[in-house]
Amino acid sequence: VPFDHLAAPVLHAPARGARPVVLCVEDDETQLAHLGEHLDAAGYDVTTATSAKATYLALAEAVPHAILLDLGLPDVDGVDLCRRLVAWPGCPVIVVSAERFEERMIAALDAGARDYVTKPYSAPLLEARLRAALRDTDPARRAIVGEVLVAGDVVLDSGAHELAIDDEPVHLHARGFAVLEMLMRNAGQLLPYAVLVGKRRGEPVTEAETQALRIVISRVRKVLGTGPRRPQIVTEARIGYRLVGPEPG
Ligand code: CA
Repeated sequence: VPFDHLAAPVLHAPARGARPVVLCVEDDETQLAHLGEHLDAAGYDVTTATSAKATYLALAEAVPHAILLDLGLPDVDGVDLCRRLVAWPGCPVIVVSAERFEERMIAALDAGARDYVTKPYSAPLLEARLRAALRDTDPARRAIVGEVLVAGDVVLDSGAHELAIDDEPVHLHARGFAVLEMLMRNAGQLLPYAVLVGKRRGEPVTEAETQALRIVISRVRKVLGTGPRRPQIVTEARIGYRLVGPEPG
């Protein structure tokens, strides 16, 4: 799915005076600590992850305003991870790598990274690139227009706020409609709890919210029903949900 076609379900600029949240993905704990200090001093709140798995868990807890991604990670190819992360709505990814790995950085940029910085970090340059990335993803600059989303027999008109299954109008309460719309807009993509419950960036999801989301999802599943022409909501344990299928045709 092209990045530009992804809806921005929870794009919020940082509240006035609030510190933007940056998720730093880096397996070297010393570098991570340095980076954290720099960014903290520069006015950012920093969350950290030292592996791909930890990255997903961190994203499940809270959606940051930007992601700083070291391409040399132990458990996954950094460019692959970058490709997955840029598919998440509205979260710019800045990749980090040693200068001699230029090809990897180019691959990451081709995969959709917003920008790059080289190691060792130049703090002013890193901050400038973060500022630029945050400016460009400011939701005030985007217009969200209504559109018709289709997944097999399920047709959701986000502009008219109507849902039809098998050509029959179906009623779904507002929360369920919003959740289904996000899943359909981002079909195939893993959407973390924080996105689905509409948290502002950086705000953690509470257990009560995850529980409430589970109930909403089970209602939506009931409405979707099953069958070869129906999409399914797949649970990604401890992280979120994704909409899969139906097969085209
Ligand atoms: Ca590394």
